[in-house]
Amino acid sequence: MFPRFLEQIAATGGCAHPVHLSGSTTTRDVATGEVLHHYDTRTEPGERLFVRCRNRRASVCAPCSRLYAGDTFHLVRAGLTGGKSVPVQVRERPRLFVTLTAPSFGPVHRATTDGQRCRPRRNAGTCEHNRPVSCGAVHDVTESVVGQPLCPGCYDYPAHVLWHAHAGQLWDRFTRATRRTLASAVGLAQARFRDHARLSFAKVAEYQKRAAVHVHAVVRLDGPDGPHTPPPAWATPELLTSAVHTAARSVLVRSPYSPSIGELELRWGTQLDARPLRAFGDTDGLADDAVAAYVAKYVTKGATDTAAGTDYRLLTRDDIDAAAVSPHIRALMRTCWHLGGLPEYAPLRLRAWAHTLGYRGHILTKSRAYSTSYTALRTQRAEHQRSTETRVPDGPEVATDSQWRYVGSGHTPGATLIAAGIADDLVLNRELAREDLRAPGGEVE
Ligand SMILES: [Zn+2]
Ligand SMILES: [Zn+2]
Ligand SMILES: [Zn+2]
Repeated sequence: MFPRFLEQIAATGGCAHPVHLSGSTTTRDVATGEVLHHYDTRTEPGERLFVRCRNRRASVCAPCSRLYAGDTFHLVRAGLTGGKSVPVQVRERPRLFVTLTAPSFGPVHRATTDGQRCRPRRNAGTCEHNRPVSCGAVHDVTESVVGQPLCPGCYDYPAHVLWHAHAGQLWDRFTRATRRTLASAVGLAQARFRDHARLSFAKVAEYQKRAAVHVHAVVRLDGPDGPHTPPPAWATPELLTSAVHTAARSVLVRSPYSPSIGELELRWGTQLDARPLRAFGDTDGLADDAVAAYVAKYVTKGATDTAAGTDYRLLTRDDIDAAAVSPHIRALMRTCWHLGGLPEYAPLRLRAWAHTLGYRGHILTKSRAYSTSYTALRTQRAEHQRSTETRVPDGPEVATDSQWRYVGSGHTPGATLIAAGIADDLVLNRELAREDLRAPGGEVE
């Protein structure tokens, strides 16, 4: 029995919190009724099957987060270079890598790489809270002061939290404004844009040191039917770049009116970066794979890895006081709690999202036309595993009956160690394989 138990843990890649299922699956030949394959957890140790937890966060499950990062890489790369049902012609489409930031909510200590001082201002004096409004120190990125406000009293916490709460809306308006700007630049009526071109994207949200979300996005311009149709002749990277800049500057969202806060005008920050991606055989711009890897890196980060918020929901004010976070993060969480209690902000659900500092968006989002989906990648992986493991013969028409139910999750303390060992071995094997590729004569993928 013991080796099968090990096999099960290995099959989940050493997942730290596997889901336990009980049930069976039977595959029959439709014509003859013959059972071609039957699997039942009754023969398994503990009468259960372990399935991966699929958590995206490295802080929750490192092995599953690596799988998720791999899927994200393929998903983003397919949208850039084709593959996984996306035509390779997408490489020749106008494609940009765009970074949109939050505006400033007050000066924070910043790290520099060239020995520059933090916020030097000669004879700048102090603010109304008697704190210096300048900082002549040179900070290393590892210093805990980096990202913390020079004066928490002057920092606009309500604006920061309300901006987060509307970041999704700002993004939606940005994509609509980009289409509108492109349409008017080429003299098209807005309603006709979709008959000529389709704008698709994949974006990830990332917390900066100051705990404000910024957005990295791959934006691509295709023909009217998405990746399978070429864009019109007017669709150039230059036109797309200029449309992105114009659109980002034009977007404005107003927060709901509040007697204590008023109505805030929320916009993107002035720091905006839009760079064309390198097309096949072209030497300028960013390389496709580098961008896909960059995006994949962010989705596995949990709130705790980025030191912004927590990976769990905060249910009471006491949870905020007890959270292991910096004073700045705690102030943002308290602001969420306070504003979340005001009726005018009820739709923003700020208390439910205090752990993410008011941001309700997904970490990764993409338009349907951009590329393949996580589901498609998982199905492909499951089919591959099935074909190598159980070998249901092709040919006759087959029908499969499955019945599964959830019976638990997690590992016993002993199994936790075994799973961690298997996960480590997998990482090591991958590293060794990479070294092999780098050996003389070999080539890195
Ligand atoms: Zn897992
Ligand atoms: Zn400083
Ligand atoms: Zn102050």
